[in-house]
Amino acid sequence: MSKLVRGFKDIFGEDAQILSELENSARKIFKLYGIKELRIPTVELKELFVKSTGDTTDIVQKEMYAFEDAGGRTLALRPEGTPGVVRAYIENNFAQAAPVQQFFYIGNMFRAERPQAGRYREFEQIGVEFMGNSSPAADAAAILLLKDIVKDFGVKNYKVKINSLGCAQCRPAYKRALIEYISIGKETLCEKCKERLKRNPLRILDCKIDGPKFAENAPKQKLCPACVEHFEEVKTLLKNKIDFEEDANLVRGLDYYTRTVFEFQAGANAQNAIAGGGRYDGLIKSMGGPDIAAVGWALGAERTVGARAEKEIKKELKVYVVSMSKKCNETAFNILQNLRAANITAEGGLFDKNIKTQMKQADKIGADYAVIIGEDELASNSAALKNLKTGEQNSYPQAELTEVLKKLI
Ligand code: AMP
Repeated sequence: MSKLVRGFKDIFGEDAQILSELENSARKIFKLYGIKELRIPTVELKELFVKSTGDTTDIVQKEMYAFEDAGGRTLALRPEGTPGVVRAYIENNFAQAAPVQQFFYIGNMFRAERPQAGRYREFEQIGVEFMGNSSPAADAAAILLLKDIVKDFGVKNYKVKINSLGCAQCRPAYKRALIEYISIGKETLCEKCKERLKRNPLRILDCKIDGPKFAENAPKQKLCPACVEHFEEVKTLLKNKIDFEEDANLVRGLDYYTRTVFEFQAGANAQNAIAGGGRYDGLIKSMGGPDIAAVGWALGAERTVGARAEKEIKKELKVYVVSMSKKCNETAFNILQNLRAANITAEGGLFDKNIKTQMKQADKIGADYAVIIGEDELASNSAALKNLKTGEQNSYPQAELTEVLKKLI
């Protein structure tokens, strides 16, 4: 028998329902912000991720599911959503026709990471990209949007960290200062960070092994006046709307961020980031598009579900329809469909099984009521309605059944 591949999972029952609840919260809030859905493919050319996510990142160096297709092209399962969104934005000529766009996507991402709690090889991200808005208002709205979703879904204990990584003007000096500082202790660096020191020293601060050694005394970013002004305005706009903490060592794992970066963290374990994002003003241009600013984030769905204290899903009234004999099947089936048409959750139709088995099934699915049609009910155009929690049973005209049940909801 075939087995599930390590690091992957089947999601069903309440776990699947709770993920849908999160998606529903997100879709509801996206509507309020006027954000449109963009469905991007799961597979892209590998080079898209190498060029955008960055070839110094673990995601690209080690974690990509890349393969050659029959046409000899090197493809990859998407490890994140932003590169595909940017490619679609450029390729579909949004930049010329309507450069200001707000997109969201919901989809699975793939990273060949070492499986552990909160780290899967296939996981769901809900993401947002605001294109063509360089105002600090876009950064602030992106952060508050994330807060609104997390709050609507019901995560209560989370921390918000923000930082500014500067821009092409002020970051090089910071990079040089970091390289100089970390070089003094470079013998102690892990293998990955030795490589990072030359190519992307900021990421050393993000390393679980070397970060803590260097972060505290590392030189701090000196932002240029334009970046200071931008960051101050982001903070002003967030004031009194969200509690946040400034963290000078928050660098995020991807190469393309400029200026504002942020992370939402919940829980005490190592994989505590439920969402992260930031501004990426240079990315669209570096991928062959025009010079257009952008800011975005991605929320990890499984981790966000894990961060919600109450695990119960919102319960809805459920009805199970039972037929006592072959003669009653048609009427019972019509009632089942009528309930659904009246927006009442109804199951049933197991009519080739006896009444006992049908009632057992009603119990298994946790139905609140059973509608039972026997030959007496057939003769009198009525239906027996049994409360499965109390055992109480009453008879109602079939024509009134949906109204009776609606009152019970
Ligand atoms: P990133 O794209 O790395 O910025 O990640 C954004 C969010 O996706 C993180 O904050 C996590 O919530 C989630 N995430 C990233 N990698 C994984 C993974 N391997 N398994 C589960 N969730 C993940």
